[in-house]
Amino acid sequence: MMLWNRLKTRVTKSSQIIVDDIDVQIVRKNIKNLNLRVYSSDGRVRVAAPMHVSDDAVRLTVIDRMIWIKKQQLRLANRPEPLPREMVSGEQHYYLGEPYLLEVIERHGKHEVTIANNTDLLLYVKPGTDMDKRASVLNEWYRQQIKTIIPELIQKWEPVVGVRVDEWAIKKMKTRWGTCNISSRRIWLNLELMKKPVQCLEYVLVHEMVHLLERYHNKNFKAYMDRFMPDWRVQDALLKCEPLARDL
Ligand SMILES: [Zn+2]
Repeated sequence: MMLWNRLKTRVTKSSQIIVDDIDVQIVRKNIKNLNLRVYSSDGRVRVAAPMHVSDDAVRLTVIDRMIWIKKQQLRLANRPEPLPREMVSGEQHYYLGEPYLLEVIERHGKHEVTIANNTDLLLYVKPGTDMDKRASVLNEWYRQQIKTIIPELIQKWEPVVGVRVDEWAIKKMKTRWGTCNISSRRIWLNLELMKKPVQCLEYVLVHEMVHLLERYHNKNFKAYMDRFMPDWRVQDALLKCEPLARDL
């Protein structure tokens, strides 16, 4: 199965419950054990649960771990600024909108990143690999992932939008999620999108493709977006809360 299709079916069911006064997002996945996380970005609680586990069972687990959850949330609320990324085991790193627990494993051999149990990000590096190099190994992995997703997405959207993309590239951009060079029909996408829900990545791509029909963010542009992707405003709002630029 192609990666894009796999991604779409990876999370099969997501629901929300409230325990005490805490919103808990439940994501059902093909995993063996229940996995509870407090998002480092905003303190939300997310439970990844095996398919067969009921909402009530999740509720019991959350109650059971309430003291720990509150402690985490308090710690996050009192944190002066986002923790620096030191690229050490135990950190949370986002991949397609979900938090993964980083585990750094030193070993001889090639550098490698894999996902374990749908919840952990295993980073294999040579002994003594420093923080910067670890970060670049992880970035390279994000880049490989995005490069397998984009062609399938472009193929999906070209006939819908009715345009052809001649060239695309992934860039690390400080102020934009994406850009479109209209005359050369070239789209650049920000590597940071790999940390956001895949719908955001898809939205930015479609947005840039629509620029091949309409240069400005005017009524016409929005009418195209409404027609091609009726829920685009959800993704737009999500990205606008982020520290990156407002401009697409
Ligand atoms: Zn734009």
